[in-house]
Amino acid sequence: MLTVLSVAEAKAKILAAVPAGTEQERILLTAATGRTLAEPVAAKEDLPSFARSTMDGFAVRAQDSYGASEAMPALFDVGGEILMGWAPEVALAPGQAMRIATGGMLPAGSDAVAMVEHTEMLGGKSMALNRAVAPGENIILRGEDLRAGESILLPGQVLRPQDIGVLAALGAQLVTVAKKPRVAIFSTGDELVMPDVEPKAGQIRDINSYMLASWVESCGAVADRRGIIPDSRDALRAALQETGTYDCILLSGGSSAGTRDYTAACIDELGKPGVLFHGVSMRPGKPLIFGVVNGKPYFGLSGNPASAMVGFLLLVRPLLWQMQGATETLPLFRAKVERNLSSASGREDYIRAWLYAEGDELWARPILGQANLISTVVRGNALLRIPQNSEGVEAGESVEVLLI
Ligand code: AMP
Ligand code: MG
Repeated sequence: MLTVLSVAEAKAKILAAVPAGTEQERILLTAATGRTLAEPVAAKEDLPSFARSTMDGFAVRAQDSYGASEAMPALFDVGGEILMGWAPEVALAPGQAMRIATGGMLPAGSDAVAMVEHTEMLGGKSMALNRAVAPGENIILRGEDLRAGESILLPGQVLRPQDIGVLAALGAQLVTVAKKPRVAIFSTGDELVMPDVEPKAGQIRDINSYMLASWVESCGAVADRRGIIPDSRDALRAALQETGTYDCILLSGGSSAGTRDYTAACIDELGKPGVLFHGVSMRPGKPLIFGVVNGKPYFGLSGNPASAMVGFLLLVRPLLWQMQGATETLPLFRAKVERNLSSASGREDYIRAWLYAEGDELWARPILGQANLISTVVRGNALLRIPQNSEGVEAGESVEVLLI
């Protein structure tokens, strides 16, 4: 029985079948890039904790500069220099200025910084300022970046480099993140050999387990390549029986309905409820199997590398994020296609393409070639989505784009 679902139906079914992950761990901030935050983060104190200069110049009282101009500069007594990393020891007296560098701490009594470009030393400690400054000019107020108690990161966010930066600013050396799901990856097929083997006539090197492992790692999960399984029901059954410790199992190849395609049968044999659907109305990647056994998701992806990749991106990746308590947030782009593309109504087409900017428009050049060609996804940087109800698009029409 081949129940064919739409991509949206398949995705909803997968996400509903596997609960969101809740397991957490405390890890070093330095190892947290790309991990999913599992705790809310708020500032414990004001950031910065003191008013700072944003310019090299002189800390002053703004009111002492009022009316200053090139013709009639305001005169100040330079009371010394504020060293970086040190708190000024004395408050600023009226009519006084103190040298300050970008990032220096403002002395008590000052409320603005005059840029060095607008000043002139007159000899001795006398400085002339030829332009008025307003209160607050060229300074960052205490708490202007973050106020004590202000929220800055939420659970479920995937940590980016700038998030690591703010965590450092707040003094977090450890962060609580979702545990990495552990994913077992198998390639199936009698024709496959490992990459270090010289293929004989009729054999090819295994692409999928390497490519899929790399995709798995790119979404915060741990990939365990479990090798190549021959097209034998016994071998596949034996391999699947050893997957109990994983959070997710990916197989590629053997997902069609050919006489040697045993993936669906072996998932069903393994336990309940078994296969939930077999087939998604998309191209490439139609013969995709999804099953659940003992609460664990099993995917049978098509063997063609580009098909396996599209199946992974559309239906496995969102689940791996959900398992970490994160929602997948993909940037939404649209681009104009260079040429007419036909598509059979009733299935969603994903066309490999090269995305480029021309003037202020995004354009996509389709890359032709079958799903069996790894070069098409290597030469491309995007997939163009032709919706299920569409019979194609015309040159110049705009389509949805998924970056790859
Ligand atoms: P299958 O899904 O097993 O019918 O395989 C479809 C096509 O993908 C066949 O041409 C296979 O040789 C090829 N293929 C299957 N698995 C892999 C793999 N791991 N790496 C590269 N090509 C594969
Ligand atoms: Mg095969």
